[in-house]
Amino acid sequence: MKANPYQQLFDDQMNRFLEVGKTTYKERVSKLRKLKNALEYEYRQPLREALFSDFGKPFLETDLTEIYPILAEIKHIERHLRDWMRPKKVGNPLPMIGSRSYIEYESKGVCLILSPWNFPVNLTFDPLVSAIAAGNCCILKPSESTPATSQVMSEIVSALFDPSEITLVQGEVETAKALLELPFHHIFFTGSPAVGKHIMEAASRHLSSVTLELGGKSPAFVDETASMETTAKRLAWGKCLNAGQICVAPDYVLVTAKAKDALVQALENQLKSFFPQGASSSASYARIINTAHHRRLQDYLKSAVSQGAKILYGGGYSEENHFFEPTLIENVPEDAALLQEEIFGPVLPMVIVKDVDEAVDYINRKPRPLALYTFSKNKGAIRKLSANTRAGTACINHNVIHLSNNHLPFGGINNSGIGKAHGHHGFLAFSNERATVRQYTASSVDLLMPPYSDLKQRMMDATLRWFK
Ligand code: NAD
Repeated sequence: MKANPYQQLFDDQMNRFLEVGKTTYKERVSKLRKLKNALEYEYRQPLREALFSDFGKPFLETDLTEIYPILAEIKHIERHLRDWMRPKKVGNPLPMIGSRSYIEYESKGVCLILSPWNFPVNLTFDPLVSAIAAGNCCILKPSESTPATSQVMSEIVSALFDPSEITLVQGEVETAKALLELPFHHIFFTGSPAVGKHIMEAASRHLSSVTLELGGKSPAFVDETASMETTAKRLAWGKCLNAGQICVAPDYVLVTAKAKDALVQALENQLKSFFPQGASSSASYARIINTAHHRRLQDYLKSAVSQGAKILYGGGYSEENHFFEPTLIENVPEDAALLQEEIFGPVLPMVIVKDVDEAVDYINRKPRPLALYTFSKNKGAIRKLSANTRAGTACINHNVIHLSNNHLPFGGINNSGIGKAHGHHGFLAFSNERATVRQYTASSVDLLMPPYSDLKQRMMDATLRWFK
């Protein structure tokens, strides 16, 4: 059998993981600060340029969605890590008298982080930050679709870390597959639900634990009580940021018949105000990552139109420079790809519903979303939508911003993901919560050990009666 090309890297980390797991709060924070300084100063401009060259990402969006979240996460961790690392004392039931119980937070060991292309820095370094905080060794494999950004990230990692502790490998899908053959202690994957299934299957061979941060279709519900101008502004921003290539972008809108015309008008006004000379010449608008994804979007749009859908705004594109105009579309049949597949681009289908009940039914016919957005002032509708659906995350009267609060867990449910990231939840994803009991005196259980006798049985009976 051919040797695994990453075996040596993996073995080197296996030899170090216990040592790295014993690092103190100060040592972990000093590693995080090195990364923070590198992103804030030396590598900020190279990263902005790399992301611009990979998919025309505006510098401000790189600062906002790639650099800022990591700096904020590190700051949050610095503030709380000492407390998170401390063993937590828990209660002791009466039969365990004479002992103390506590949870120790130990590193998982050697971890694999596989990331997607849409926020390549954020989605590679954010889990890395959690992994470092929890005292792990890591191999990172970013997406092959952002080669310039992966190259800068590789330079950062090799400048800051010893490869026997943290290293980054670049490569295509085959690289990811080769890495997945190794018995990692934890795999943190961010990407599509389809690939997530392969990751879970590969992880099952070694029973590696997994965090799967996946995607899918995140709906927005808008009713006539919502403030249309604000709703349109926020939805248009959520759909245009990164040119709609965001796991939590509003994928489609379920809008009540009474609100539809006002919402469409407000969205049009908003898009014109975001891009007064048109999005194609705007420096505030990113491009689609590559030709394959551009064609996928073209196909979705063309086939929806051929099935009777009507473009309300936009619809323009240029394959040559990967530009795709922000587009509003209605009358899309439910079985069209636009309403079946994750759009991951700046096309926003408007689906008309009678009321919140119909929206609930629609959402519940689909796989569970990563995010669910409600735009309404009607408390009953907000409550109904929340209580009668399941989603990984939610925002009420806004979208996308919830993932920037490090106090909140971030992640999906079932088809949209397994496990949570960010802040304390990220630390826990990369930690084993070792349940520990320390016996100080004689134990009541010692009295019930063989050989069994009538007296021991009576003691057992008395214990059971105690529950009555
Ligand atoms: P992807 O699933 O195609 O690829 C992600 C990573 O997996 C890449 O590093 C790739 O090399 C690797 N990969 C691809 N095929 C593989 C295979 N068969 N075996 C092993 N590894 C494989 O995702 P993408 O196109 O890069 O990103 C878009 C998807 O990611 C969308 O579905 C989006 O919703 C999701 N996403 C989720 C989050 C989140 O936090 N939940 C964030 C961003 C993106």
